[in-house]
Amino acid sequence: PHGRLFNFSAGPAVLPVSVLEEAQADLLNWRGCGVSVMEMSHRGKEFTQIFNEAEADLRELLAIPENYRVLFLQAGATSQFSAVPLNLAPAGATVDHIVTGSWSKKAAEEAGKYAAVNIVAKGDNKSIPAREQWNLTPGAAYVHYCDNETIQGVEFRGAPDAGAATLVADMSSNFCSKPVDVAKYGLIYAGAQKNIGPAGVVVVIAREDLVGNARPETPAVLDYKVMEGSLYNTPPCWSIYVCGLVFKHMLAMGGLEAVQAANEAKAAVVYDAIAASSGFYASPVAPEARSMMNIPFTIPARPELEKDFVAEAAMRGMVQLKGHRSVGGMRASVYNSMPMEGVQQLATFMQEFASRPA
Ligand code: PMP
Repeated sequence: PHGRLFNFSAGPAVLPVSVLEEAQADLLNWRGCGVSVMEMSHRGKEFTQIFNEAEADLRELLAIPENYRVLFLQAGATSQFSAVPLNLAPAGATVDHIVTGSWSKKAAEEAGKYAAVNIVAKGDNKSIPAREQWNLTPGAAYVHYCDNETIQGVEFRGAPDAGAATLVADMSSNFCSKPVDVAKYGLIYAGAQKNIGPAGVVVVIAREDLVGNARPETPAVLDYKVMEGSLYNTPPCWSIYVCGLVFKHMLAMGGLEAVQAANEAKAAVVYDAIAASSGFYASPVAPEARSMMNIPFTIPARPELEKDFVAEAAMRGMVQLKGHRSVGGMRASVYNSMPMEGVQQLATFMQEFASRPA
């Protein structure tokens, strides 16, 4: 319907059609108030309602405990690579980083501007380093990791054991894809543009004792205490509004258990197609670390066919299957809003493409 393609983009990514239709219906005149969400004051009663509902719905979805603050900020998940050390690490502190792929590496590099960074463990971009090998710093301000590496397709299964340390997670590419025990974390952040909405907003969920300790030089827009309530300056109103529609959509689906079950079923269709190809396709990632959201795969014996695969898939209405420019190959991003029919069509095409005579 609507001439829409199956969009395997890693982000900005597919959104639910029903949400886009709702936003379209509200576009010119939100609920009869006479203006659109893009045009209303962020301090007026209409936007206050939109904002409060979005926060309440996210709290319900993730069962966020009361002692956590929820912030809707700007400048993307990348902003948190600097906001986290500025707010959580006093000058001179050491911060621990686990590196499992490109994004956790970037986070560690940026933190190095503000703190002494200890790389606790470095993965091979295909797996998660064994817990016994992590070299945690006693007294580190926090332990940072990336729950799902969008480029490599390496995903943790639940919160890693960081002992007594404050755990900080970048959940940009698997946020709201499954239930999360928020209480295990000091802080979680996630850019919106994969699972929950349009680009332009990053969600920060921070335990209250971690709010209010920013270094004096912290820019106001990165200081969690200043930004608490997310209305210190103009927030990304439209993006927050669309995220709110997506949260309601997920609640109506049955919450994050139902979302997770659908995601596991969809990812299995693609991983099964790789496994059933007698080695024509390969997943570079260790089975226990394979992402439910971003599925990289290659054609190891005939890599020259990979660009044909991507081009032909696009002609069949399956777009954005090219792997990230830094790793090559293919990547199917199968976020919450990718329909089952999309992955089924991809698996059918994978099988057909692999069975052609060489
Ligand atoms: N972390 C992860 C895991 C990501 O996938 C991305 C974006 N692809 C980022 C951080 C950076 O997000 P942004 O572009 O919103 O700054």
